[in-house]
Amino acid sequence: MRIAITGTPGVGKTTVSKVLAKRLNMEVIDITDVVKRYRLYIDYDEDMESYVIDFEKLNNFLKDKDNIILDGHVSHLLNPDYTIVLRCDPKIIEERLRKRGYKDKKVLENVQAEILDVCLCESKGKVYEIDTTNRDVEDIVNEIIEAIKEGKERKGIVDWLSKYYEYLEI
Ligand code: ADP
Ligand code: MG
Repeated sequence: MRIAITGTPGVGKTTVSKVLAKRLNMEVIDITDVVKRYRLYIDYDEDMESYVIDFEKLNNFLKDKDNIILDGHVSHLLNPDYTIVLRCDPKIIEERLRKRGYKDKKVLENVQAEILDVCLCESKGKVYEIDTTNRDVEDIVNEIIEAIKEGKERKGIVDWLSKYYEYLEI
C-alpha cells in the first residue's frame, strides 16, 4: 500500500503524515527530504528556491518500498494506491509560508496553486480530498483512516476561487 499525502506547501502534509504513520504503523517518506539527501534532482531552481525533481531517479528510489506514506506536493504523481489531497484556506497557507521565510514570489505562486486546485487536478485514481481549515490533526487523521478503510473517493469540496479571485489579478 502506497498512500500519497499531497497538497500545496504549508497545507499540513508533514504534520498529518507523521500522525497517520504512527496510527497505521507505516513508514513516512518525506519527498523533499529524500530528493535532497539522495540527490534525486536535475537542477536547482534559484527563482523558486527549490530542486527540480528527477522523477526517474525518484521512482527508482521508491520502487522496492512498500507500505509507505509519501509526504510531498508531488506525491500524487508517484503511483500511489490512494491519494489524500489536503486543502486549507489560502490565507492560512499564506501566513504559514511567510513564517517559513519564503519570498513573496514563492508565497504567491503557492497561494495561487491552492486557489486553482493544482494538486487536486493532477491527482488520478483513488482520491479523497479534505478541507483541513481550523481542524485538529487528530480529527483529520481519523477521517483519512476511515476514508481509506472504506475506500471512499471525493473531489471538489472547496471553492477558494470565488472567495479569493482577487489574488489572481495581475
Ligand atoms: P506541509 O508539510 O504541507 O508543508 P506542515 O505540516 O509543515 O505543512 O505544516 C505547516 C505549518 O502548519 C506548521 O507550522 C504546522 O504546525 C502547521 N499546521 C499543520 N497542520 C495544522 C493543523 N491541522 N492545525 C494547525 N496548524 C497546523
Ligand atoms: Mg512538509
